[in-house]
Amino acid sequence: MYPSLEGKVVLITGGATGLGKAMAERFGAEKAKVVINYFNEEQEVQGIIETIEKAGGIASAIQGDVTKEEDIKGIIAHTIKTFDSLDVMINNAGIENEVPSEELTLEDWNKVISTNLTGQFLGCREAIDYMLENKIKGSIINMSSVHQEIPWPHFVHYAASKGGVKLMTETLALEFAPHGIRVNCIAPGAIDTPINAEKFSDPELKKGVLELIPMGYIGKPEEIAACAVWLASKEASYVTGLTLYADGGMTQYPGFQAGKG
Ligand code: NAD
Repeated sequence: MYPSLEGKVVLITGGATGLGKAMAERFGAEKAKVVINYFNEEQEVQGIIETIEKAGGIASAIQGDVTKEEDIKGIIAHTIKTFDSLDVMINNAGIENEVPSEELTLEDWNKVISTNLTGQFLGCREAIDYMLENKIKGSIINMSSVHQEIPWPHFVHYAASKGGVKLMTETLALEFAPHGIRVNCIAPGAIDTPINAEKFSDPELKKGVLELIPMGYIGKPEEIAACAVWLASKEASYVTGLTLYADGGMTQYPGFQAGKG
């Protein structure tokens, strides 16, 4: 547990499912004040708020589309109005779809880039602007992926978006370090969330993924939430511009495990 998170105001985009849900519940358990942005999962989000409240925490929800500038402004305004601050901004909302690159439409390209990269930029910009104005030494966490590093055929838009998140994170870390605002990202490997539901329900596809994970299992959302609370806490007070890989070793060239290289 991280006592420094008690009372901190934490905003999570795409917080109704998967990694966002796990982070919302973990920050709630840390006694942070949690704002969950959701897209269209009104029912799920009520369940998360109940879980947090049952554990003695406090949470609020706000619908919004991270690709829309006015929605991001509204989500931040709701956070400040509800809990009177913004200390931790987690840009988590993201999408992916598989398409061979020669068939990828401009519409699909733009949709992924505007959700995964532009949406995260807007979240960073608005949160940093508020933190600067209010002299808050806040923490920004962007949800990247191992595909900021590992090329991914048929997912060129996704890989490009996450590569962009990496350099955006590092640039903002450098720019705002003098103000004590830390900007980091988490790069998960394969985690058991709705984004992977179809893939992991097919035993052959799941086996193929497992072969890429030296630790031998699909990650749990709670293992990513554990990274987020550490990054947001005082324990990580000197950490900025970091990509925290949480991938069971996926980025360590699994093909070279003993006997294979
Ligand atoms: P998920 O599909 O459960 O979560 C994505 C969330 O983003 C959903 O709640 C969805 O409603 C929301 N969202 C989508 N478009 C939105 C928009 N325009 N505005 C607001 N919200 C929107 O999947 P997840 O695995 O929890 O994904 C969370 C993040 O983690 C994503 O950025 C994803 O790229 C990243 N990630 C996931 C994995 C994994 O294996 N699960 C691995 C690497 C990175």
